Amino acid sequence: MTEQIIIIGSGPAGLTAAVYAARAGMEPLVIEGLAAGGQLMLTTEVENYPGFPDGVLGPEMMDLFRKQAERFGTRFITSDVTRVDLSSRPFRVWVDSDEYSAETVIVSTGASAQWIGVPGEEKLRGHGVSSCATCDGFFFKEREIVVVGGGDSAMEEALFLTRFASRVTVVHRRDEFRASKIMADRVLHHPKITVRWNTVVDSILGDGSVTGVRLRDTITGTVSDLAVEGVFVAIGHTPNTALFTGQLDLDARGYLLTFKGTATSVPGVFGAGDVVDSTYRQAITAAGMGCQAAMDAERWLESLESTE
Ligand code: NAP
Repeated sequence: MTEQIIIIGSGPAGLTAAVYAARAGMEPLVIEGLAAGGQLMLTTEVENYPGFPDGVLGPEMMDLFRKQAERFGTRFITSDVTRVDLSSRPFRVWVDSDEYSAETVIVSTGASAQWIGVPGEEKLRGHGVSSCATCDGFFFKEREIVVVGGGDSAMEEALFLTRFASRVTVVHRRDEFRASKIMADRVLHHPKITVRWNTVVDSILGDGSVTGVRLRDTITGTVSDLAVEGVFVAIGHTPNTALFTGQLDLDARGYLLTFKGTATSVPGVFGAGDVVDSTYRQAITAAGMGCQAAMDAERWLESLESTE
């Protein structure tokens, strides 16, 4: 059976696309991935999504999005897509050996955390090195930790980690934060947080678990060790487009290119959310794009039916 629409990914973009596609009678199939719900599953309080004046937890919000999509008949497969063939229609999508086909596809696979790539980081991931304070913060009760980065994610992680850690040191490579003023101010005024400006992590120390970081002052070149038990890396994200390399046009950093709304380089394939957007990367902007993608897909299918 050929689906009218397959949506790959289930963050705010994919699930909003599902709500719109389902309400348009397209009976969407969402292949939601093993990390269903996307990056909001790794977040704590979301305070800037309109309609939630008291804030809402990221995972709770994604649960509400999913329920809303289900209510109108969306079907879900909780697996990762392993291969796609977008060279002809119907498009084909595989989950291991299971093959699915669809007239239209929405790519909403999001983006994943970036790592600093220093000695010790990979070896100690899961043993003190993490990219998710919400997931791992609990393990650092009364411990000293470092957060790397100067954007909103780093601020959010540092603030969240103060609930557990005895001291949080934010290590940032420049002398000012990229983060929004409100988040930066909260960090700068927090009694448990210290900021090391113009500083980079040269290596993460420890054998079996993290015991410290080797820091380098980028102005003076001075190297020093700081004893910590946790390192949280919050330096941005990489788009999840490996599946589409060579099939859809990507920009130099691997983000999916869209033209005229959400259309990609392959007619009938649409893109939405963080996989497309390296600038705004907000739940609300992703949701907006998911809506656009579903409407673009519906109109594209209609125009096709009227010409075929
Ligand atoms: P970001 O804004 O791109 O910030 C990344 C930070 O990491 C920058 O400060 C950057 O330094 C630093 N960095 C990058 N590569 C590095 C490296 N190799 N070594 C050391 N430092 C490195 O990413 P983000 O913080 O993940 O935020 C992404 C988007 O999500 C933003 O639009 C942000 O506003 C949004 N967001 C919002 C909230 C919220 O409102 N609650 C929470 C989280 C994220 P430089 O500054 O020197 O480039």
